[in-house]
Amino acid sequence: MGLPVASVQQALLEWYRKNRRDLPWRRTDDPYRIWLSEVMLQQTRVDTAISYYERFIERFPTLHDLAAADLDEVLALWAGLGYYNRARNLHAAVREVAAAYSGRVPAEPEAFGALPGVGPYTTAAVLSIAYGKPLPAVDGNVQRVLARLCGVSEPVDRASGRRAVQDAAAALVPDDAPGDWNQALMELGALVCRPASPNCSACPLRAWCRAAEDGTADVLPVVQGRTAVRPVERLVAGIVADNALLFVQRPSEGLLAGMWELPALEAAPGTWPSPLARERALRGLLHELGVRVQGTLRFCGRTEHRFSHVEWRMWVYRCDAQGPPPAGLRAVALDRVLALPTATGIKKTLRLAVQQMG
Ligand code: SF4
Repeated sequence: MGLPVASVQQALLEWYRKNRRDLPWRRTDDPYRIWLSEVMLQQTRVDTAISYYERFIERFPTLHDLAAADLDEVLALWAGLGYYNRARNLHAAVREVAAAYSGRVPAEPEAFGALPGVGPYTTAAVLSIAYGKPLPAVDGNVQRVLARLCGVSEPVDRASGRRAVQDAAAALVPDDAPGDWNQALMELGALVCRPASPNCSACPLRAWCRAAEDGTADVLPVVQGRTAVRPVERLVAGIVADNALLFVQRPSEGLLAGMWELPALEAAPGTWPSPLARERALRGLLHELGVRVQGTLRFCGRTEHRFSHVEWRMWVYRCDAQGPPPAGLRAVALDRVLALPTATGIKKTLRLAVQQMG
């Protein structure tokens, strides 16, 4: 690699100890709390994660508290953070730790890494911070810093670029302060070696940085291609029965698994090219659900929601129904609907459906 490893380690660790942000999960050495913070920080900004973390810790101060909780309550506290599989996996993993390890988070990478939702990054981050294991944790921030520091020109989303970054990370992690080191790299990526306009003149690694030397900091890391976002059309039915809206539960696997939402049909763009086609399709769905529609279907509006790999393009309708809710549907009083803790993509449809009812 050609870097003077000891000097690089010393410079970055000194910088970190002076400049690190005071974050709630940095004031603890409890492996459970450190683990929770790492799960929340994946795909979530630090500012957003802080309030969620504090609410979680207040409600579930220990691993046993979280293990004993209902998944519904955990998901409700998670509502708005997105990527709900993180919460589901964490809950399952914590239960496994409570049952199989008497509540002590395992310190061995094989055991911890085998828990639901725990990948190589989480293993390295949690075990280095909580137990001082010298494992390199490479997230997006670290990948960017190391690709620039070492001048990695291969795409970091391809095997060769990934390997080059991983090798550099493994060579640099110090045995005596791996937790601080991993956090220092992440902190540098967040505060100084930012995606756009890295602040090289304030960087403790400037003296050894290939990208700063070559003037390539703005073009590294190279990313070859992102996965395309797949558009999906959805027809959403706001069914009102006896002053309540009817909800169905999503399948137990996949996107927003197990969450309650308004009944909907989903298909490729262009499947329902006209209002008539949409109404026919929706009436078919309502019939299948066993809903007895009273009167017409009314169009409430359109909305969109984008996930990492799918975009929902939605038409929201409402109708009135007779009789009690058919089996499998759950009624929620109209005045409670907007207070439900749920995913943003679902909430958008609720707002449209309820707005038309006022
Ligand atoms: S010198 Fe610049 S490009 Fe290199 S690590 Fe520091 S901030 Fe990033």
